[in-house]
Amino acid sequence: MMQVWPKSFNLAVCKICLFVVSGLWMSHSVAAEATDPASVLPRQKRKSSITTPSDFLGFKIGSRHLRHDQIHGYMELLAEQSDRVSFTPYATSHGGRQLFVLVITSPDNQKHIAKIKETHRELASGKMKTPRREDRTVMYLGYGVHGDEASAMNASPLLGYHLASSQADSVVKALNDSVLLLDPSLNPDGGSRFAHWANENRGRLGSQDPADREHRQDWPGGRTNYYWFDLNRDWLPVVHPESRGRIQLFHEWKPNVVLDFHEMGSSSSYFFQPGIPARTNPLTPAKNVELTEQLAGKHA
Ligand SMILES: [Zn+2]
Repeated sequence: MMQVWPKSFNLAVCKICLFVVSGLWMSHSVAAEATDPASVLPRQKRKSSITTPSDFLGFKIGSRHLRHDQIHGYMELLAEQSDRVSFTPYATSHGGRQLFVLVITSPDNQKHIAKIKETHRELASGKMKTPRREDRTVMYLGYGVHGDEASAMNASPLLGYHLASSQADSVVKALNDSVLLLDPSLNPDGGSRFAHWANENRGRLGSQDPADREHRQDWPGGRTNYYWFDLNRDWLPVVHPESRGRIQLFHEWKPNVVLDFHEMGSSSSYFFQPGIPARTNPLTPAKNVELTEQLAGKHA
């Protein structure tokens, strides 16, 4: 499965984030992705019928920050162009922006996606003890719950393009074996607020100076949603439409793996789950702490 990911995906996390995370590192101004996507994605044979992000956007990924509507438009196009990709809306943000996932899997799986979901739910329910030949691994990938940790959202079109276009055996096999739920923009209002700020306050040449206005958002920044709530603190209360839709989607699919993509600043230390005990919500099962400690060991 891990061969699906571009090699340039680095682990990068926010020290006040709650989940295991990773993201595509984007430098302050001109990222490595500022060139042809083929330079950051694995060099594999690709379907020429799939439009690249830069051809759709008119600029290279990483050369400026993406708003939600740009990602939305590109992902809809992927669903039109690729028989591996379908587009599923699941909520509308307070700001009126549509949240959605791309369901990405093999064309054959797409034809039977309702049945695959049904059998997966049977397995997840515990009624079925042994996986069957027709069962598929389900992985959810969520990007940018903190809208100003922008490498997450900005990386998602590249991943969508990679999975829709690659003809490598490893990708074809992974898509036969699994269903990926790509949620490119968990906080569309905050992400778009941040994109506006960064794009309109940067110079023609980006600055790496952390004191530069480009890197110092006015309050409220892009971290929070339309009404300035931190959606990464809404996984348990579930009071905002973005979270309500996301949690409903989770229970609909019961993914085997959930990845939540954040970003840390270049001068921050590395966040390890489960973090300090005082921050653990009493509703969080002890098993969660035990398992995330094991994951932290792997990260270390
Ligand atoms: Zn974060």
